Amino acid sequence: MGNAYNPYKTAQEQFDKAAVILELDDAARDLLRTPMKEFHFSIPVRMDNGGRRIFKGFRIMHNDARGPAKGGIRFHPHETVDTVRALSMLMTWKTAVADIPLGGGKGGVICDPHDLSLNEQEQICRGWVRQNFKNIGANIDIPAPELMTNAQHMLWMLDEYETITGHRNPGFITGKPVGMGGSLGRVESTGYGVMLCVREALKELNIKPAGTTASFQGFGNVARHAIELYNKMGGKVLCVSSWDQKEMKEISYCKDDGIDLAELKKITDPFGGIDKTKAKDLGYTVKEGGEWVRKDVDILVPAAIENQITSENIGLISPGVKIIAEGANNPTNPSVEPELNRRNIKLIPDLLANSGGVICSYFEQVQSNANYYWDRNEVFGKLDQKITSAYISVSEFSQKNKFDMRDAAYIISVDRVATACRERGWV
Ligand code: NAD
Repeated sequence: MGNAYNPYKTAQEQFDKAAVILELDDAARDLLRTPMKEFHFSIPVRMDNGGRRIFKGFRIMHNDARGPAKGGIRFHPHETVDTVRALSMLMTWKTAVADIPLGGGKGGVICDPHDLSLNEQEQICRGWVRQNFKNIGANIDIPAPELMTNAQHMLWMLDEYETITGHRNPGFITGKPVGMGGSLGRVESTGYGVMLCVREALKELNIKPAGTTASFQGFGNVARHAIELYNKMGGKVLCVSSWDQKEMKEISYCKDDGIDLAELKKITDPFGGIDKTKAKDLGYTVKEGGEWVRKDVDILVPAAIENQITSENIGLISPGVKIIAEGANNPTNPSVEPELNRRNIKLIPDLLANSGGVICSYFEQVQSNANYYWDRNEVFGKLDQKITSAYISVSEFSQKNKFDMRDAAYIISVDRVATACRERGWV
C-alpha cells in the first residue's frame, strides 16, 4: 500500500475532474468538494473488565440536495476522518448514479470488533446514537452497516434511537434483521449487484458468463454473495483472499478447479477470515499476500478494502483479465487507471458496481416507512431493473462521449447533484 494514499484527496481529485468537464461554477465546486456537515464525538464505554475506554466516532453528511443522506457506519481500527469524508462523498455520487432520491453520508468508529465483546460492541452502537440522534433520522440521514458492522449492530442502534425519541421509526436505519424491519435480499444485494453489472459487461463483450473465471479479494458479505450469483451464472472462482487476524496478513486461497463456496463458508469466521489450516486440509493452495491478483482469470473483483490495485501490483495482473468489478469502495489507485485503460480492461467503478447495497437499503427504507414488506422476488426484480438501467446509462454515456466508465459515472452523478443544488437555489 502506498503510504501517501489519502482517500479524501483522491475523492476530491475525482470530483474536480468531473467539475471541469461539466464546467461547474465556483460556488458549485466549493459546495460539492467538501461535506456539508461533520460531527466528531467521543463514545465512553464501560469495558467488561470494569475499566472505561473512549472511542472516537464520526458522522459526516456530504450532501442531501437529492434527498436525505444515506451511508454506512464502519467499525475499523484504522478509520480516519478523511476516509469517512471520502466515503460520504462517494455515497452522494452512488445514490445519484443509481438515481434514487437520497444523498450521501458516512459514519465510523475507530475500534476493532475482533477485540471487543458483544456487550462492548452494543455499548458503542448505543453511544454512537446517543451522541448523534439529533443529526440522523428517516428524513435527515439514514445509517446502514459497513465494514465490520452488521444487522445486530443496526438493531441496537435502532432500539437506542426509538428509546430516545419515544416512537417506533424503523426507517431511521437500514440493514436491520429480516422480521425486525429489514428487507429480504438486503444482505445479498451488494454482491448480487456487482454480478449484475458483470453480467452486463460480459454481454457487451459478447462473452457468455458460463465458462468464465474470476478471482476475488475478500471473502466477506460482498464477495460471498457475488460468488453465489456468479456460480449460478455458470462462472468459476479460482481464488479468494481474506485477512488473517492472527498473522495480520492477507492470505489467498486458490483452487484451479474452482473454490467451493459452501465449503469455504463453513470455515470462515464472522469477520470473513478463513481458517488457514482447515483450508489446506480441504486441498486449497494457501499463499501469503495478494495471490488473487495474479490469477489468469477473466474477471477480478476486489471486494475487501481501499487502495488494493496499485502501481506495486498492476504488473501482476494477467493479460487474460477483461473486467475489474469494484466490489469494495476505492480499491483501485487512480494512478493505475491509465494503464488499465491502455490494456483495454473494462473497469466497473465502485459507485456503480457496489450500488446494489444502497439501492436495496432504499427499498428497505421504503418498506419500513410503509410498514409493508415485499417478497424476495420483488426485491431482486426491482434491484436488477435499477442497477441494470444505471449500468446501461453509464456505459452508453461512456461509449458516446469517449470517457472511461468511472469518469462517465462521475459526470452523470455530479451533474445530477449539481442540478439539484442549483434548483434549490444553493449555488
Ligand atoms: P466484510 O467485513 O463482510 O468482509 C471484508 C472481507 O475483506 C473479509 O473477508 C476480510 O477478511 C477481508 N479483508 C479485510 N482486509 C483485507 C486485506 N487487507 N486484504 C485482504 N482481505 C481483507 O465487508 P463487506 O461488507 O464484504 O465489504 C467489503 C467492501 O465492500 C468494503 O470496502 C465496503 O466498504 C464495500 N461495500 C460494502 C457494502 C455492503 O453492503 N456490505 C456496500 C457497498 C460497499
